[in-house]
Order: sequence, then structure tokens, then C-alpha cells
Amino acid sequence: MTWSNPPVHGPLADALAQLAATVEHLGYDEGMHQMLATARREMQVSVPLRRDDGRVVVYSGYRVQHNFSRGPAKGGLRFAANVDLDEVRALAMWMTWKCALVDVPYGGAKGGVAIEPRDHSQRELERVTRRYTSEIAPIIGPEVDIPAPDIGTNEQTMAWMMDTYSALVGHTVQGVVTGKPVGLGGSRGRATATSRGVAHISLMAMAAHGMKPEEASAAVQGFGKVGRDAARFLVQSGVTVRAVSDVDGAVFSEHGLDIAHLGAHVDRTGSVAGFEGGEALDPADLVTLDIDVLVPAAVEGVITADNAGHVQASIVVEGANGPTTKEADAILLERGVVVVPDILANAGGVIVSYFEWVQAHQAYQWSEREVNDRLEERLTTAWHAVIEYASAHSLTYRAAATALAVRRVTEAHRQRGLYP
Ligand code: NAD
Repeated sequence: MTWSNPPVHGPLADALAQLAATVEHLGYDEGMHQMLATARREMQVSVPLRRDDGRVVVYSGYRVQHNFSRGPAKGGLRFAANVDLDEVRALAMWMTWKCALVDVPYGGAKGGVAIEPRDHSQRELERVTRRYTSEIAPIIGPEVDIPAPDIGTNEQTMAWMMDTYSALVGHTVQGVVTGKPVGLGGSRGRATATSRGVAHISLMAMAAHGMKPEEASAAVQGFGKVGRDAARFLVQSGVTVRAVSDVDGAVFSEHGLDIAHLGAHVDRTGSVAGFEGGEALDPADLVTLDIDVLVPAAVEGVITADNAGHVQASIVVEGANGPTTKEADAILLERGVVVVPDILANAGGVIVSYFEWVQAHQAYQWSEREVNDRLEERLTTAWHAVIEYASAHSLTYRAAATALAVRRVTEAHRQRGLYP
């Protein structure tokens, strides 16, 4: 556990620093601080894979369940080469705050396998997913912990997880994961929910800070499940999206990118690099472009002490989890850049994951319109709660969002009491 030996840098250090500031603001004692800082359960597993050529490799896998006070744990599964236990711990803690902030009845969890998915065939990814699922099966389930897609995983991954878990328990359990294909009990609107939420929150932040969408420009880092549709929804709302990037490159157009054509290019080539509807851009320069709204929607730790002083956007909307380091956060605050935190900005995904889980329990599918309306209603409620709390207590949006969330988790914990 991390309490006695916390890291100094990285996502877990940032998450623990945010929690420490929140605990001080709320006036909680050291015992409560320790409870909130440590995960309730952590599992580390080996995931052996027989490759298509017969060789065997062994990957490390993790599942961290940070908190259960408000309900079963919930959080994504990440496939990325650099995943480690501390990163998964940080992401699980942020999930707890996110679920509490948007008032869905879950605690937070996260999983990861330290594998580079682009180096593997679909058949290999299926075997890794099934083996990882069987290793963590004792600690997941619709009333225990419900995984969902994250970086490097998708609805196919969730279908394999659901099938593996169902085979192990002997009957179909749709509610064990969310983000499944719609034909297998997935929710309409889930695939675009995080992006829809990012765009909805961006528009509310722009309105609150006197910016009209049709006069605003944006840059989106990451063109995956979150970034791609976030860029599309922003353009649909009138915003000029000048730049997008992915792990292989970036493209820029002063007059705005055609996201549909860019999407077709990515489907064909696998990357935004080489898109003819814009100029090539150094991906590192995207963060400091002269635009109004910056949407980091890729990985953690991309707005740092080195580049925060050069960010020209007046609003940063965190589509990714943990894209702003704590040092960068302080610099952006001092420079008057508004940061809409991840636990609010990208909460659309977990909200519709919750709707998917509810639909699995009801064995009934809602219409896409119903899903989208309920999603926007929940996000709007959370947004107003955050800006009102921030204004009442002179806090940043991140500090306000974390305080509201931690208070809810703590209230549930106190009402349940400590066993034994
Ligand atoms: P994804 O794997 O679908 O896409 C990730 C994208 O980021 C890809 O385009 C990849 O090329 C790009 N990328 C990776 N490293 C990069 C770098 N250094 N610079 C620029 N681009 C880079 O993943 P995703 O599901 O879109 O997740 C993105 C972020 O959003 C993550 O932080 C994730 O935790 C968060 N998030 C995802 C969801 C969800 O529903 N998928 C929900 C909430 C939060």
C-alpha cells in the first residue's frame, strides 16, 4: 500500500496531493485521510500469452479497487506498455471521486495490462483479455467491480471479458462489464458518451467565461475513443477545431479541420499523420497553440511545468484522466487559465456506463435520445454544483469538484460505519 511510502512524481503523487489539499479544506482527521488515500483491494497478476508463432510471453496485469463506500467499484481497463501499479492506483482513486461527483452509486476501480496492443494480433489480444479476465474473475462481478474500456481497449475487449466471466460462472452475466457492443446488452450512446460529455462541459465552460462557440477555436490531443468524437461534437457546435494529434503525429489548419475526412483518413492509415486537409505539426506544439480551448484527451502528464507557462488557451478541458501535473496546475492557476478537471469533464463515460448497468438489471434498452438527455442532465447538475462550490469557497474547479466528491464518499463511509 502506498500510505507509508508515497511516490514523489507521477499520477499517484498528483492524486495524493489533490486529496491532501481536499482533506485539509474539509478539515478531516488523519485517520479519514488514510482511509481515503489507500485502496481497499489490489490484485496483481501474471498474464501469460501464447503468441501466434508459438512463443510464450508474460505480461503484468493489475486491478485496483479504491473504494466501495457508495456501491460496487467501477473503472476502465487499460492496455498500454507503460502501465504500472501506481498509475492504476491513481486512476482508481480518480474514479471514486468521479462517480461520487456525478452521483452514480459506485466506488472507483481501474485495471491495466502492461502490453502494447499495436504489437499484437486480434487473436493474441483476445487470449490476453480472456486470461486476464479469468485471473481477476474472483474480484469482479456486477455487484462487486464492473470494468469498462479505456486506453487500448474497446467494445470487443468488453465482449470477450463478458463472455469469459459468463463461461466461468456458467451463465450469461451482461452486467459484469459496460461499454459492450449494443447487440450484447451495451447501451445506445455509450460509445460516444465520454466525448459528448467533454463537448457539453466545454460549451458550458465557454458560456460561463463569455466565449461564443462560433467565435472559439480548439485543439484536441488524442484521436481515440474520446478525442475523435469530442472534436466532432465541438465542430458540430460551431467551434473551429484547428489541431488534433495522436501518438504518431499532429495536424493543423488555421481555418479548421474537417473531422469527418480526418476520421476517414485515420480509418484508412491508422493515424492523423499525413492528412492532406491540414499541415503537419509537431505533436509537442499542440498544447501551446494559439487557440481558446485545449482538450487533452490522450494520456496523463502532458501539461507539465515545462509547457504550462506557454499554454495560450484560456480554458483547458481535461478529456483524459490526469493530463495536468500538479506543478502545471499551479502555473495555469497563476496565469488565469481555467482548468475543467477530468473528474467532471470526462464523466460522461461512467454516467452512461451506469445507465448500461441499469439497463442490464432491467433487461430493457433505452432509446439513444433518452440516454443522451439523461447524460446531459447529470453533467449539467454536476457542473453547476462545482462552479457554485468553487465560487462560495474561492477554489479552483478541480479543488471544488474533488471536495464535493470526497465529502459524498466520506458521508457514505460515516453512515455505514467502520467494520468491525
Ligand atoms: P484510446 O486508446 O481510444 O485513444 C488514445 C488516443 O491518444 C490515441 O489516438 C493515441 O494515439 C493517442 N495518444 C497516446 N499517447 C499520446 C501522446 N503522447 N500524445 C498524443 N496522443 C497520444 O483511449 P481513450 O479511451 O480515448 O482514452 C483517452 C483518455 O481518456 C485516457 O486518459 C482515458 O483514461 C480517458 N477516459 C476515457 C474514457 C472512455 O470512455 N474511453 C472515459 C473517461 C476518461
